[in-house]
Order: sequence, then C-alpha cells, then structure tokens
Amino acid sequence: MRHPNTISYVNYLNDRHTIYSCIHCNTNLIYQDDIISKGFQGQTGPAFLVYKVNNIKIGVKEKRMLLTGMHTIAEISCILCHHKLGWKYIHAVESSQKFKENKYILE
Ligand SMILES: [Zn+2]
Repeated sequence: MRHPNTISYVNYLNDRHTIYSCIHCNTNLIYQDDIISKGFQGQTGPAFLVYKVNNIKIGVKEKRMLLTGMHTIAEISCILCHHKLGWKYIHAVESSQKFKENKYILE
C-alpha cells in the first residue's frame, strides 16, 4: 500500500490503534480511527482524508482551486519540525464537497 509522503507509521498495540507520525520528526499525527479515506489525491500524490490531526500548526486561510472546485483551506504543518503536511478544509463552495469541511488532507 502506498502512503502519503509526509507521514510514516508505526504499529502500536493493534490495528485499531496504529499511529501515523511525521516522516521527519516522528511526532504523532493521527490514529487509524481518524482516517475517513485513504483514496484521496493530493497535489503531489496519494493523500488521506482525516477527521482530526494532532500536533499541528494551522496556517492562514486562503482560497484555492482544487480538482473538486473552489475551497477555502488553511495549510497545516508539523508543530515540531514545521514540515508541511497538507491542509484543512474550511469551506467548500460545491454542495457535494461540503462533507470535507473541517476535515484534513494529509499528503
Ligand atoms: Zn515533524
């Protein structure tokens, strides 16, 4: 299975509690249970859609044209090493994309 290029993973206790960490500094970012979909496409390759991400810094809001239409997003980066991880969906114009609001993309 291919993983996004910003996170690595360590298996922790069991499948349900697998933790995904920053590929650079190993800071814990997400749990297996937080992943909504592993089938997303980021700007540079495969991406995860997740409910929440721990230990991140959220950048300024900006409008961005994505494959699925215009969105307001904010870039997210690792709180420790500042590596860019992906973005948070703040607002989606298309009603079919509303489900992504307040969720995160990890590339
Ligand atoms: Zn990091």
